[in-house]
Amino acid sequence: MSFCSGRYESCQYYPYSLCLSVLLLVTFTATAAEDPSTILSRFQQYLQINTAQPQPHYYEAAEFITSQAKSLSLESQTLEFVKGKPLILLKWPGSDPALPSILLNSHTDVVPSEHHKWTHPPFSAHLDSTTGNIFARGSQDMKCVGLQYLEAIRKLKASGFRPLRTVYLSFVPDEEIGGNDGAAKFADSDVFAKMNVGIVLDEGLPSPTDNYRAFYGERSPWWLVVKAVGAPGHGAKLYDNTAMENLLKSIETIRRFRAAQFDLVKAGLKAEGEVISVNMVFLKAGTPSPSGFVMNLQPSEAQAGFDIRLPPTADQASLERRIAEEWAPASRNMTFEFKQKVSVNDKFGRPAVTAVDSSNIWWALFEEAIIKANAKLEKPEIFPASTDARYFRERGLPAIGFSPMANTPILLHDHNEFLNKDEYLKGIDVYESIIETYASYVQHPRDNASREEL
Ligand SMILES: [Zn+2]
Repeated sequence: MSFCSGRYESCQYYPYSLCLSVLLLVTFTATAAEDPSTILSRFQQYLQINTAQPQPHYYEAAEFITSQAKSLSLESQTLEFVKGKPLILLKWPGSDPALPSILLNSHTDVVPSEHHKWTHPPFSAHLDSTTGNIFARGSQDMKCVGLQYLEAIRKLKASGFRPLRTVYLSFVPDEEIGGNDGAAKFADSDVFAKMNVGIVLDEGLPSPTDNYRAFYGERSPWWLVVKAVGAPGHGAKLYDNTAMENLLKSIETIRRFRAAQFDLVKAGLKAEGEVISVNMVFLKAGTPSPSGFVMNLQPSEAQAGFDIRLPPTADQASLERRIAEEWAPASRNMTFEFKQKVSVNDKFGRPAVTAVDSSNIWWALFEEAIIKANAKLEKPEIFPASTDARYFRERGLPAIGFSPMANTPILLHDHNEFLNKDEYLKGIDVYESIIETYASYVQHPRDNASREEL
């Protein structure tokens, strides 16, 4: 499917003078500063669409985004890599299409909510008139960002700004369930390859301080199951090599490793995203009986599951050795398997991180744009969990995780998720600065020359 611009399509049906007056009216409306309540009501409309997993109303969200794109004269297309899971791709063409483009990514789905534990229903988008807080599932993660991109473009268009580089916006499905049918397929598609993307912006986390947070990489999930077997026996008998004893020895070893990593965080020597976290997520053992478990029998099998997260700098081979030799050694009748094992490296074998120094012009421009918007950044971090940004970094592309929410408690996936209206509006100005800076960046000829010298 190709892009289609709807900008002038209605004009051919009307006399020239009428068309001109319509255009003048549109221009006038666009340049007048918008009432914040109008901007906020668009945010509330998007929040009110129930896109909670496992049954997100994706088409309703698609319709809303497409209508916003139309009002902004952005080109739009809906891609369905998997039926029923639309991905909306918008395009603001730059005047020099040969330059690498900018991709602003956001996901349309949200996690489920326990409605009865919320003060205001999670899809009401209730705006508290005293505090200015807007309560909704997705207000932080991450419908705010998706709409802020669009609002920033609305302001840039109204100011007469024209991008040199093409700006794309992708509204992807399924991030909350792993992104396999969304961002993963998109990043792997011909459509994406033709976009010639130079930099990707994706989600970050709120900051309780005045400073925004930015993320340049993320930890890779390894979901490990260790299994122990041993001779079954009477519950009263003391003997070696039972499945339970073998598993407990492993759990103790893993716990010591966990404590050592956690100590580094507690001592302030490392950030949460810089250590290997290990958390036990299930224990499965015992022989069931009608009233619970058989109490006088030592079972022949036992297993435990662990959620492990590795920072991009971790030595994968040494952790693999540790698992095979200490956590689930064959000498103790133990085996292990991975339910998920994402590499810390990109497809070129390099750690999948985005440089956050002067070697990466997109980072330098990002910092510059933040300053221009009168905002400040914390030291860039590794994202402690996973986002769709990994599918772009895997391809060797720079990707920055950023959600402009300062002075905000972290309530992603929590009850009563909210974003303050002033933080939301300020975030629009920040994106206006970032998009303007990125879209007008022309690589200086001198940069090419110096690169050739190297
Ligand atoms: Zn998210």
